[in-house]
Amino acid sequence: VDPVIDHRPYNPKILSGPVLTNSPNAVLSKTLLSRYNDLPLPADKILATYIWIDGSGEHLRCKDRTLNFIPKAPKDLPIWNFDGSSTNQADGHNSDTYLVPRAIYKDPFRRGNHILVMCDTYKYNMEPTESNNRISCQEAYDKCKDDEPWFGIEQEYILLDSDLRPFGWPPGGFPPPQGPYYCGVGANKVFARDLVEAHYRCCLYAGVPIAGTNAEVMPSQWEFQVGPSIGVHAGDDLWVARYILHRLAEEYGVIVTFDPKPVQDWNGSGAHTNFSTKKMRNDNGIIEIEKAIDKLSKVHMKHIKVYDPRGGKDNERRLTGLHETASINDFSAGVANRGSSIRIPRSVAEDKKGYLEDRRPASNCDPYSVIDALMRTCILNE
Ligand code: ADP
Ligand code: MN
Ligand code: MN
Ligand code: MN
Ligand code: MN
Repeated sequence: VDPVIDHRPYNPKILSGPVLTNSPNAVLSKTLLSRYNDLPLPADKILATYIWIDGSGEHLRCKDRTLNFIPKAPKDLPIWNFDGSSTNQADGHNSDTYLVPRAIYKDPFRRGNHILVMCDTYKYNMEPTESNNRISCQEAYDKCKDDEPWFGIEQEYILLDSDLRPFGWPPGGFPPPQGPYYCGVGANKVFARDLVEAHYRCCLYAGVPIAGTNAEVMPSQWEFQVGPSIGVHAGDDLWVARYILHRLAEEYGVIVTFDPKPVQDWNGSGAHTNFSTKKMRNDNGIIEIEKAIDKLSKVHMKHIKVYDPRGGKDNERRLTGLHETASINDFSAGVANRGSSIRIPRSVAEDKKGYLEDRRPASNCDPYSVIDALMRTCILNE
């Protein structure tokens, strides 16, 4: 099929970062570094990449340091700092912002004993920064650990070329309508599977429990699922999976966007959050699942406010009632219904136990906020 040429401009305003005509990364040699990766480093030197969420609540930052020991737990790692005035997290005159290590992963880029370290951020006076949603999530999880809350998050995302148009789309136009791309196979249906495969392997190596992956409804849109992971750890796992994806895409000269609706009239991206407690997973857990849905129905807007980084504004573009979404204004629940806010998977209805799927979180949500809200509403009755 010939591409449909459509000259409606694609709106890059919602995406951050410079528009490049060509990514310089894409043309750099990908094999030169291997000569230096083989250099034997001093045996006692461990390289640690500290990763954190910046003031946008949406984007990641990282910096590296050398350690002289192998840390066993996050508390073994030094607290570090950075210039918060450069990340929208502090004023210039009082800019030191602290990084507190919270979770350690193996570094799939450097291998060996090198590590990735997920951190949260604190102001000069050790108060959490505005975008530190992890601390509240940790507090909620500490109160309901006995309920064993599990989260499996389906992260959808879209790959962009350096001109900020979806990767592989015809210049100035659109590909043929959606239909053949979801779970597609073949050179005219899916783009950059090698990046997706590299991500899958890097995550598993790092210790991020990827459950699966699939091509999505829009060409160059993909999904991976993280989990089930327990409590606040699901947030750490998802943020590190996002970091690894951005980091790999950098090498390919491709851009990853988690914006929930980069292209009008095409499917947007979500972060469906599958949630269960021990009781829900036990026999007749469906009763607990229905109780949770009832509680969620009473605080719909409260959840919508924390399901994207702009208080619901981003999800307004995505939760239109079309493209497998429910309207942002209404709460609904149903078995196997992909047009509802909450879906009970068919197999869960049949087994009368399992989990529920909250389809509302946007792809650029902070999973700490989503998990926090689900635990507080459904378990802690707040
Ligand atoms: P969908 O059919 O909506 O596309 P996926 O297969 O993409 O669903 O994702 C299902 C997610 O649910 C996976 O991340 C999986 O780990 C997670 N999951 C499975 N069982 C549970 C459970 N009991 N509690 C929480 N999450 C679960
Ligand atoms: Mn400096
Ligand atoms: Mn899925
Ligand atoms: Mn999906
Ligand atoms: Mn889903």
